[in-house]
Amino acid sequence: MLSAAEALAAILRTVRPLESEPVALADCHGRVLRQSVVAERDQPPFDRVMMDGIAIEHALLAGGQCEFPLQALQAAGDPALTLAPGNAIEIMTGAALPADADCIVPVERVSTNDGIVRIEDGYEAEHRQFIHPRASDHAAGTELLRPGTRIGAAEVAIVASAGLATVDVARRPAVAVISTGNELVPAGSPIADHQIRSSNGPAVAAMLAGHGYPDVTVAHLPDDEAALEEQIGALLAANDVLVLSGGVSKGKADYVPAVLGRLGVEVVFHRISQRPGKPMWFGTGPQGQSVYALPGNPVSTLVCCRRYVIPGLRQASGMPSPPPEFAVLGAPVEFAPRLTYFLPVRLVSTTAGQVLAMPAPTNTSGDFAGLAGTAGYVELDQDSSAFDAGSAQPLHRW
Ligand code: AMP
Ligand code: MG
Repeated sequence: MLSAAEALAAILRTVRPLESEPVALADCHGRVLRQSVVAERDQPPFDRVMMDGIAIEHALLAGGQCEFPLQALQAAGDPALTLAPGNAIEIMTGAALPADADCIVPVERVSTNDGIVRIEDGYEAEHRQFIHPRASDHAAGTELLRPGTRIGAAEVAIVASAGLATVDVARRPAVAVISTGNELVPAGSPIADHQIRSSNGPAVAAMLAGHGYPDVTVAHLPDDEAALEEQIGALLAANDVLVLSGGVSKGKADYVPAVLGRLGVEVVFHRISQRPGKPMWFGTGPQGQSVYALPGNPVSTLVCCRRYVIPGLRQASGMPSPPPEFAVLGAPVEFAPRLTYFLPVRLVSTTAGQVLAMPAPTNTSGDFAGLAGTAGYVELDQDSSAFDAGSAQPLHRW
C-alpha cells in the first residue's frame, strides 16, 4: 500500500497542465497567472512629491531665506513646472517635482500672505526631503509577478499598474463532484428513517471553491452499475477532473472502481495507508482526466479532498507546491495502527505567542459535525505511534 506522500507523488506525476487563456483585468482576481508581469515604467515614474506644501530650492532655505514669492500652483496630474530662481511653487501630494526644486516644505510649516509664502522660524529642512525618487521602488522592466502566482488584491494592483488590460491565466478546470449511494437524499427533499442526508457534494464543492476552483458540477448517482457507467461516462467526457465519493470500499454495492475501469479510466492506485480514507482510489481518464474516487464517509472525503485533490488542481493550474506548514501539538497523541493519521485540530493562540494545534478527533470518520471549528488537520507519521505535546507536525488547513 502506498504512503500518503507516495500517493500524492503518483497523482502529481499524472497531472497535465491546463491551457492558458487571456482574461480581462476586472476578471483576473482568484486566477493563476501564466505569464510574468513586468513593470511598464519606473516606479515612481518621476520624482514624486510626498506632502502637500511648497517646492523650493534647498540651498536658499539653508542659507537663511525664509520668504519666497509664490510662482504657481502645481497639482497631482499637472505637468512639472520649472521653479524660477528664489521662488516657491505650491505643490500637492502625488505631483511631479518641479524642475530645479529639491526640497518640499509641508503646508503645516508655512503661511501665505499677499503672494509671499513664509516658512516658520527655525525650520530646518533636509535636501530632497519628502521626495520619493524616480525608480526607487523598482525600475521599468523589473519582473513583479511570476507565472504560477494566484492573483489576490495586491496582485490585481500590480497587474493594473503594469498597464495590462488583459492577462494570461490558467483555464479553470471543470470539475464534476459525484456522490454515489442509494441511501443519500439531498437537503430540501423529504427523508425516510433509513436514509442519509447527502453532505459530501456541497462540502467538496465548497472546499474547491475556497481554493479557487469554482467551476463545479455536483451530481448524485445511485448504486447501480448501468446508471453509474452511463452517467459517469458522460461526466468524464465533459470535465477535466472527477471527484467521486462513496462506493470504493469492499461492499457488494461498491461498484465505482469496476465502472471506472470499464470507462477506460486507468487505475494508478487503490488504497493508501492512512486513516481516515484508506480505500481511496485514483486513476486517469482517456483524455488525461484526473479521477479521484474518495471513500464516502464525510470526514474521509474532506480529508482526502484536501490532501490529494487540491494539490492536483494546483499543479494543473501551474502553481508550485507551497512549503509545508507546521503546527505545534498542544497535547500528546497516541495512534498505534501504523497508518498515517490525519487528526483534525483546532488552532489556539497562547499568550506566549505560540499557535497550538489542539487535537479534535472526530467520533468516527462519519462524524462531520466534529469538524466544525477545526482549522484543518495534522498529518501524523505512520512509522510512529506516540506524538509528544510540543512536537511540530505538518498542518493541512481546510
Ligand atoms: P461508502 O464509501 O459508499 O461505503 O460510504 C461510507 C459512508 O459514508 C456511508 O455511511 C454513507 O452513507 C456515507 N456517505 C457516502 N456518501 C455520502 C454523502 N455524499 N454524504 C454523506 N454521507 C455519505
Ligand atoms: Mg456507498
